[in-house]
Amino acid sequence: MLQLTLACLKKTAPCTRCGGHTELTADLNVGKDVHLELCPRCDAGGGLGGELLAMLTTGLITPDRLTEVSLAWMYEAMAAQGWHQFPHEPSG
Ligand SMILES: [Zn+2]
Repeated sequence: MLQLTLACLKKTAPCTRCGGHTELTADLNVGKDVHLELCPRCDAGGGLGGELLAMLTTGLITPDRLTEVSLAWMYEAMAAQGWHQFPHEPSG
């Protein structure tokens, strides 16, 4: 069974890469614990992480787009950790 815990803004743990604060963390259990984090320093470049950071920090969010980008970022971050088999239904 997939278990997912999300923490936003002030409740997040420090970034494991730079030690700075994270905007979003996700802890999943997909048979093994998986930790995902979105850091303004480490993930501010392009891509889904950058887009999600911009949404969270500017407040320029529509619920549908936030859901879409959040899920896509989560799948991308999981794939970066080798979880390619995680079920992903492409959007569009
Ligand atoms: Zn960082």
